[in-house]
Amino acid sequence: MARYIESVCKICRREGLKLFFKGERCYTDKCAFGRRSYAPGQHGQRRSKVSEYALQLREKQKVKRLYGLMEKQFRNVFEKADRMKGVTGENLILLLERRLDNVVYRLGFADSRKEARQLVTHGKFLLNGRVVNIPSCTTRPGDIIQVTEQGRSLAGIKRALEGGERRVVPQWLELDKEALKGTLKSIPERGDTTVPIQEQLIIELYSKV
Ligand code: SF4
Repeated sequence: MARYIESVCKICRREGLKLFFKGERCYTDKCAFGRRSYAPGQHGQRRSKVSEYALQLREKQKVKRLYGLMEKQFRNVFEKADRMKGVTGENLILLLERRLDNVVYRLGFADSRKEARQLVTHGKFLLNGRVVNIPSCTTRPGDIIQVTEQGRSLAGIKRALEGGERRVVPQWLELDKEALKGTLKSIPERGDTTVPIQEQLIIELYSKV
């Protein structure tokens, strides 16, 4: 499977905001963006004029990387959002938020979306009582996500739940820490993302190609 191999901190620095790829480290003084909040590379500190196309491209890259998708997967989600009723940009964000790996992360069972994806792939979660190992699976209101018996002993899940105090479980989700279980109470709202997103720029970009 294709994956990003560059330093994830460079992605934050390039996009100009914290994208929280490294869990607890992102909240400490070790955060690379906190120390060097300019783009990586020799010319990173230069202010240059940015074209409209570059802005659109950057926004798409930012969202794609935030949710850990490769180009083709991201394009597929966009096309699905476009076929749905309603506003395409909003549909896109809400589809990304409802991915199983993102729900696991937002519930606090993992320190990062990457870690959440790995746990799902390794079959550590039940979706409505059945093991689902597809991170891209779209969850629905009423769905119950629970850590499997095998997953209960994993230090990573316990650590994430204990250390995740800084992260607030969004209103569309409900966490039962004791039972290691989460419920999707409703469809998320547009404002429920962890970082600001200008989805209109992505629409404009994809309308050109
Ligand atoms: Fe981004 Fe986290 Fe690295 Fe900071 S520590 S630059 S927030 S990935």
